[in-house]
Amino acid sequence: MALIVQKYGGTSVGSVERIMAVAERVKRWRDQGHQVVVVVSAMSGETDRLIGLARQIQTRPDPRELDVLLSTGEQVTIALLSMALSAQGCPARSYTGAQVHILTDSAHNKARIRDIDAARVKADLEAGRAVVIAGFQGIDEQGDITTLGRGGSDTSAVAIAAALKADECQIYTDVDGVYTTDPRVEPKARKLDRITFEEMLEMASLGSKVLQIRSVEFAGKYKVPLRVLSSFGEGEGTLISFEEEAVEDAKISGIAFSRDEAKLTVLGVPDQPGVAHQILGPIAKANIEVDMIVQNIAAQEAMTDFTFTVHRNDYARALEILETCAKALGARQVLGDEQIVKISLVGVGMRSHAGIASRMFEALAGEGINIRMISTSEIKISVVVDEKYLELGVRTLHDAFGLDQAVAV
Ligand code: ADP
Ligand code: ASP
Ligand code: MG
Repeated sequence: MALIVQKYGGTSVGSVERIMAVAERVKRWRDQGHQVVVVVSAMSGETDRLIGLARQIQTRPDPRELDVLLSTGEQVTIALLSMALSAQGCPARSYTGAQVHILTDSAHNKARIRDIDAARVKADLEAGRAVVIAGFQGIDEQGDITTLGRGGSDTSAVAIAAALKADECQIYTDVDGVYTTDPRVEPKARKLDRITFEEMLEMASLGSKVLQIRSVEFAGKYKVPLRVLSSFGEGEGTLISFEEEAVEDAKISGIAFSRDEAKLTVLGVPDQPGVAHQILGPIAKANIEVDMIVQNIAAQEAMTDFTFTVHRNDYARALEILETCAKALGARQVLGDEQIVKISLVGVGMRSHAGIASRMFEALAGEGINIRMISTSEIKISVVVDEKYLELGVRTLHDAFGLDQAVAV
């Protein structure tokens, strides 16, 4: 007998029929003698619908109130799933995040889980019930409802699995595993049987929305066995593996991309100590995260250009801040570009293989795709390109590295 935490995303619980199908799957696991805790998302489209309602009233609603609103989506699903389970003869109980003490910090709309009291869940499991918990939400020390950021139900599930010391955390979604890249962009993408934890962490942080980044971090910290699989069919899905050797001998495992990018440039700043700080200090103070940074080498007149990228949601604010600080610095001009994307190659095999970057740049050049920025780390290479090249860029690289074949060339 095993203790399994299963998470079902929005599409998987998108209608009453889908909820009944989830209940059947949960019941099957229980009939095999396993204890099952289910974490669910809001029905598909519901979180967006709620955000839309709020925005009709205020362009920037109070984050606390937004959390009260958004948490209702998941509350609907837990009750319906619990009813579906009992209709199929499986005793079940539903709980909101607060009811099972998913304690978070108070950073509304992007809260982090601090602690979970698993006692109540364990008592239910011992009593032979299935437990259904609302994903994406928690409660802070003041008793206020918080939410964990978009895609946060993945993190709820992994955190609950860690707290319960579950044997496996299964993330059921609308694809049958983690692919070499998003199959919606490259239909030739191939499902991976395994991916290393490190690679999954990079893929998630570089934009693959199949798992929320924090869920992967949690899985790493508490060594939670994690699997991504389809709620629409059968199959083993993809195991997130903690052993590097167990994974295919590929140089590149996948391609991640992010459309949430924007680029800002300050032209003609003095090339002297303290300038980077003068530019990025006010940006950091405004709580805006900076990703890539490039500073050119100064030409004769000891002036240089400074470029960095931010999340597209922060673009307008960053531009405003930069314009003020450019004046103070006596910079020539501030430029901004919201129509850019980031495409990244990820693979632990990169460590032991040279020439990956040049092959990447050659393939992109072959399609006339101009690279605007480059950044590398041990197991990834990222490039910023114009938004219109996203699909072409991803497919070109997928082909160039033979990712549709079992062992990449
Ligand atoms: P859920 O609602 O179940 O949480 P998401 O939409 O958050 O589902 O995540 C699943 C989606 O992630 C897939 O439909 C797919 O389009 C996208 N995706 C992005 N990158 C990948 C990848 N490398 N492998 C599989 N799916 C990916
Ligand atoms: N319902 C939330 C969202 O749409 C959380 C989740 O589905 O994971 O982002
Ligand atoms: Mg998701």
